[in-house]
Amino acid sequence: MNNRKNAGEYFGSLVFNEGTMRDYIPETSLKAWQESVKNRSVLPEKIAADIADGMKRWALEQGATHYTHWFQPLTGETAEKHEGFLIPDGRDGFRMEFSSKELIKGEPDASSFPSGGLRSTFEARGYSAWDPTSYAFIKDKVLCIPTIFCSYAGEVLDKKTPLLRSSEALDREAVRVLRLLGDNETKRVTTNIGAEQEYFLIRKDLFLQREDLRLCGRTLFGADAPKKQELDDHYYGAIRPEITAFMQDLNDELWKLGICAKTEHNEVAPAQYEMAPFFGPANMANDQNQLTMEIMKRVAERHDLVCLLNEKPFAGINGSGKHVNWSISTDGGENLFSPGKTPAENTRFLLFLAAFLKGVDEYSELLRSSAAYAGNDNRLGGQEAPPAIISVFIGSDLEKVVDAIIREETYDGAYDDALAVGKDVHLQIGRDNTDRNRTSPLAFTGNKFEFRMIGSSQSIASPAAYLNTIMAQELKEAADELEAAGNTKEALTALIRKMLKEHRRIVFNGNGYDEAWIEEAKRRGLKNLRNTAETIPEYASEKNIRLLTENGIYTRKEIESRNEIRREKYCSVITIEARTLDEMIRKGILGAVEAYLNSLTLRYAFEQKLADEAGELGGKLLEATQQLEADIRRLDACADEGEKLSLCSEVLTADMRTCRSVIDSLEKIIDSRFWPYPDYTELLFSI
Ligand code: ADP
Ligand code: MG
Repeated sequence: MNNRKNAGEYFGSLVFNEGTMRDYIPETSLKAWQESVKNRSVLPEKIAADIADGMKRWALEQGATHYTHWFQPLTGETAEKHEGFLIPDGRDGFRMEFSSKELIKGEPDASSFPSGGLRSTFEARGYSAWDPTSYAFIKDKVLCIPTIFCSYAGEVLDKKTPLLRSSEALDREAVRVLRLLGDNETKRVTTNIGAEQEYFLIRKDLFLQREDLRLCGRTLFGADAPKKQELDDHYYGAIRPEITAFMQDLNDELWKLGICAKTEHNEVAPAQYEMAPFFGPANMANDQNQLTMEIMKRVAERHDLVCLLNEKPFAGINGSGKHVNWSISTDGGENLFSPGKTPAENTRFLLFLAAFLKGVDEYSELLRSSAAYAGNDNRLGGQEAPPAIISVFIGSDLEKVVDAIIREETYDGAYDDALAVGKDVHLQIGRDNTDRNRTSPLAFTGNKFEFRMIGSSQSIASPAAYLNTIMAQELKEAADELEAAGNTKEALTALIRKMLKEHRRIVFNGNGYDEAWIEEAKRRGLKNLRNTAETIPEYASEKNIRLLTENGIYTRKEIESRNEIRREKYCSVITIEARTLDEMIRKGILGAVEAYLNSLTLRYAFEQKLADEAGELGGKLLEATQQLEADIRRLDACADEGEKLSLCSEVLTADMRTCRSVIDSLEKIIDSRFWPYPDYTELLFSI
């Protein structure tokens, strides 16, 4: 009956991982590769040739016919251009070729990828370069080689490069701090990430009937279904057989690609689900999350479903986020955010914690910006997603410790040993104490931080890169101060206290959904950047430029171009949504209202009332639509970038809201025989 293989038999079967490499690459070359990955040194040509040869043999055995440099342009998606292994041998036959040159470098045409003005149009070439720290894999008979991507002039045009650079910066500064703390063992510090992915599944036939879903990935209108999520009966509920079939299929595909999909469950909203992989090194976790999103969409299609990754496909119910669980650990396997068991570990933990809090406080705008784009604007700040204000949840135990340190008091709360500042600290932070506060954008969860502001559709590369960079910067400053103060124990204690004291305001353990928090945050001087438009002037601030250039993540030009891309993309999304809504109203809804009105015979008195109601709303809708159209024309004619941005963020979004509220009222009263689109009940409760 059950002919499914044991997952262990095919886990990673489509990945050229270390185990597989061992079978295809000479021992000495494998060692050289391991060394070069560890030391980030250049791989000698001869070794690359051995790897290319092994990779080719393996790929051909798996039935691959093509290879591609797989990269992550600034669209936030992934890109690939397939090249056949096949070349004619000049005697009516062919042979399969793949050289080290082809492994190491590619030259895709870069002209149609966003560059924010970095790449001049006459020089369309871009370079992709092999990233030997992430494994090659096979997808659809194509050998995919993870690569970085840059312009002809060497400017970074992708999302992976900054992540790699930030990991290096963090490694360097963290090791430096560890040395000062007396750790002479640790050689490398790495970032680990586990990215929980939320998504919706809806029936494909229904999806196809709505232009807004097809073109924008979300509904632009739709009256509430009579039932939403108030019964909480979907959350962790029994998974429907259709969905189980999808999840099994998804797991198979992910496991083959070496992605350790570990947990799956129904989420809070109807038709919403979550998949969490087992965490891994940041670079790999980022590649794998990109793949996961792609595979989810494809597997859904096979099941006549559509996977929606948009942050807010439906109003009135929860949106989808991506929780980026982020921690840093040593090559000896020690988690540096683990409170630890010995006093020395405790001090180290407190220093790393203080550095994190300081960094988040000082660079909150950068973190906020990393999650700011049109789709996520519809989610953040709503009553179900983290608010748009950056703060850190640390749990009550840890908060007491922090406050005791600041006040130079002895702390004898929940811990066995009293805590006296200046003396050693004994911490026992219960995992349960870092409780399930779901309202915080950044939460300490025992030995890692969970960045919950990230949207479901976005690449995790930038948010992770900024977390790394901020941490690197603060550790660098701490190391400088410690060195200057002679690296004494007293200096260390004083430094931790100062950092905690100055940045205490970023800690917030309360309910982030509470209106009072907005006021409280204002009193604390914390910024509330409510939408993408408000983050645009903040992102490329001098402070951030200094941070990112000094840590070797970007050049000034690269930062400015990224901001340019963020702005352009935001405006494009809003414009597409506005046009789509306009078209749906003109071609679908107004006609439906008219047909409905015509269907009323007016032979009964109540029909007149119905006609009046619908007629009045129809008139309002036409008026609102004409306003929307006028503003779209204004935008089309506008040449000033700043003005375009505010037209999109203030005018068009408001126009769309007005249209939507009228449409939703109409949807509630018009006979469903005339309504041209599947409604929320059908979309959300059909599986
Ligand atoms: P939740 O209750 O939020 O679902 P879990 O403990 O199940 O929390 O973990 C969620 C994610 O965090 C998983 O992807 C998991 O692999 C990841 N994770 C666990 N420990 C770490 C760590 N030390 N560093 C990074 N990610 C981690
Ligand atoms: Mg989580």
